[in-house]
Order: sequence, then C-alpha cells, then structure tokens
Amino acid sequence: MIVFKKIKELSSFIEEEKKKGKSIGFAPTMGALHDGHISLIINSSTSNRLTVSSIFVNPTQFNNANDFDKYPITIEKDIDLLEKNGCDILFMPTVKEMYPNGFVNPLHYNLGYLETVLEGKYRPGHFQGVCQVVHHLLSIVQPHNLYIGQKDYQQCMVIKKLIETTHLNINVIIGSTVREPDGLAMSSRNMRLNNEERKKAVKISEVLFFIKKEIKSGYIEDLKERAVNYLSAEGIKVDYIAIATADTLEVLENWDGKCPIVALAAVYLNEVRLIDNMLLN
Ligand code: AMP
Repeated sequence: MIVFKKIKELSSFIEEEKKKGKSIGFAPTMGALHDGHISLIINSSTSNRLTVSSIFVNPTQFNNANDFDKYPITIEKDIDLLEKNGCDILFMPTVKEMYPNGFVNPLHYNLGYLETVLEGKYRPGHFQGVCQVVHHLLSIVQPHNLYIGQKDYQQCMVIKKLIETTHLNINVIIGSTVREPDGLAMSSRNMRLNNEERKKAVKISEVLFFIKKEIKSGYIEDLKERAVNYLSAEGIKVDYIAIATADTLEVLENWDGKCPIVALAAVYLNEVRLIDNMLLN
C-alpha cells in the first residue's frame, strides 16, 4: 500500500493508473477503523483494479468541538488493517493540505428537505461539512466507484444528492451495516464507551429490531414512544427515534403498510452520540 499525504502527488499517481485502464474504487473514512470500514475496502478491492481509502478527521463536519477533540485516532492499526484487506492507496492529508485557505466554503450545497430533518436538524451545518470534504476528496481521487455505509443512512442520501447535483460520473455502492455480535452497529465512537455505556448501547439496535417486529400499518407514533421510553428508562438520552420513507426520508406518523420504510435512531450515552438505522420491510 502506498501512503500519500499530498494532493498533487496522489492525483498525478491516480491519473497515470487511470491511463492504464484501471478502475478506481474509493472508500473515504475518518479512521479508527473497524470491520464496517473494512467491509467497504473488501467490496472495493473485489470489483476494482485499484482501491483507494482516505483517513481524514474533517473538522468542518463536527458541530461539537468536544466530539472533534475526542474523536479516536488509531493510525498504526488502521494502516495495518487496510494493508491486510486489499487497500492499494491510502490518502492521509493534514488539515492544512485540505483547507489551505481556512474552513470557509464558498459553495453552499442545496440539500433541501434532507438538511432539515433528523441529523440535519440535530447537527446544524454537519451535512454542509460532509459535502465540502466529500466533494473535495472526490475531485482529488476521481473514482469510478464510491463505497459508503448504510450505517450513515441520511449521509448516503446526501452524498448521492451531492454527486447528482454536481454532475459527477461516479457510481455509489452502499454497504450494509456491520454489527458487533450483540447487535450494536460498529462505530469508531464505540471506542469511547466505558463498560457500563457499552452494555447499554446494545439497547439501540434492540429497539430498532423491536420496531421492525411490531410495526403495523396505521398510526405509528405510539410505537416510537414505546421505543423512546425503553431507552430513557435506561438513562439513554434520545435525540430522535423516527420512522421515515426509505427513499425520501419523509418522517411518518402514519404508515400505509406498503411503502418501504426505515427506522432511525440517534442517542447519547453520556457524552457519546451514536446513530443507527434499520430497514423495516
Ligand atoms: P466514518 O469513518 O465514520 O466517517 O465512516 C466511513 C465510512 O464507513 C462511511 O461510509 C460509513 O457509513 C461507513 N461505516 C461506518 N460504520 C459502518 C458499519 N458499522 N458498517 C458499514 N459501514 C460503516
């Protein structure tokens, strides 16, 4: 695996590889890698001649300074994992390399409704930061195929919209959520949980499985309320539990029993904010 820290060196290397007719797969990350990230690398390396990953903890997508400061960093282990799982190129830029002129983005991404609900509502500015860094990374790597995870359901929709509105010719491949044996969705932030918090964190996927089992057509607010109460009783602070249409993320109070839907959750275990989601039908 070759590690690049400079944009120019990476893009000229990739340009040469593309001239040789190689297909490029790209899986961007913020590091502190786990099997969820690695599943994206494996997907890419089985379908592309060249797999590129990046590790960059992007300051502009953190709406909470403490969350940014405490974001886990495990670079040596990450490099080892990437190398063992078929990654060919790792891009690891500094903040200065990515944002030489500071963080202000002259572009505003028009995400419409997507930015007004759920993560958009609870993390103001977050998706603008995600678009800023993903747009920048995509223009550097110029991959044929982009690998992202369903774990960040709304982010997948935002990135698809970004690619569509900027007319980039990139296929998006969404990988399913990789979970711990007890059901907890893998996340870099799980490393920040103490033993007690880790035990409680399993309740997040439990309520999603519960909703999936219990959901019936008609009024669904009471089911959501039961889920929130279940978590609150454990001392878990709930930002939201929502049931929304799977393709447009319209938050529903009633379900016709037919249209594809997804349950989404965002909660705090003390300081650590975790999200998860599950397709329901
Ligand atoms: P992150 O490092 O959290 O920014 O995530 C980088 C990529 O890995 C994103 O596309 C995530 O959606 C994806 N990802 C994170 N956690 C998981 C998981 N448990 N299963 C599958 N993909 C994941």
